[in-house]
Amino acid sequence: MTPVSAIKTRFAPSPTGHLHLGHLYAAQVAHDLARKLGGQYLLRFEDIDKTRIKDIYYDSILEDLYFFNLQHDAPPISQIQTDRLEAYSAAIEKLESLGVTYPCYCSRKDIFREISSLASAPHGNHLSAQYYPGTCKKLTSSERAERVAQGKIPSIRIDTDKARELTGSLTFHDLIYGEITVNHDILGDSVLSRRDIGTSYHIASVVDDAFQEITHVTRGDDLLESTHLHRVIQVLLDLPEPTYMHHQLILDDQNERLAKRAKSLSVKELRENGHTLDSLNSMINEQLKT
Ligand code: GLU
Repeated sequence: MTPVSAIKTRFAPSPTGHLHLGHLYAAQVAHDLARKLGGQYLLRFEDIDKTRIKDIYYDSILEDLYFFNLQHDAPPISQIQTDRLEAYSAAIEKLESLGVTYPCYCSRKDIFREISSLASAPHGNHLSAQYYPGTCKKLTSSERAERVAQGKIPSIRIDTDKARELTGSLTFHDLIYGEITVNHDILGDSVLSRRDIGTSYHIASVVDDAFQEITHVTRGDDLLESTHLHRVIQVLLDLPEPTYMHHQLILDDQNERLAKRAKSLSVKELRENGHTLDSLNSMINEQLKT
């Protein structure tokens, strides 16, 4: 059992836009769980993708959180800092040394072409969207050397088959879904290190959850499949296993994720249109009932 004093949750928004009500609900879940368990609630800006972040969003996120009385317990850490990038590189190097990765030189176009030519192309969910047909896994060492000589920078993918051999059968515990068995088949040789930023959401999230000693990872159930990959990475990197809580997403009237909606639904704009704390909370509660 985790001692109560060590319990930590976190809200981890990406400063790539204003918060919408779904984000606010995610922050509330993390905050309320920490308060209920007598632990700490942390804020972490996930800002590894420099091409998409904007300075204005850090402030607007903080303003919305304060408006909702979601006061975090420690200063937010920013993942853009060089010392964190080194931690991510070290994690990727360790995975490389375990032999569970391979470099991938394919462009998006190459992958699309290859997938389209497959009769059984996968569809749908989060990780399958990153399904990769394994083109670069089959490269010979001379084919790899050729690409290196051409100056091509690879992304780094997880070799799911090798990862499965090393980890064996795994589970994780979710406060809503109960005990879940990791399904290696849905990992899809995901990218662990993007060639443009030298890491990925998966690596940064797992490494920073361990770094911040997060004991309870709460997030929307659209990320449930990612957690299968995160458990594999944790075991390979010998990192502690958090408890999970994948909560309901706030959807719009058309049952679409709010993230996809027009910016008129940002909390900032709703507030500017006169919504109070109570009316915004009622909107969240209404959506949760549907
Ligand atoms: N930055 C991620 C997001 O906004 C956080 C996901 C997580 O909580 O792990 O979706």
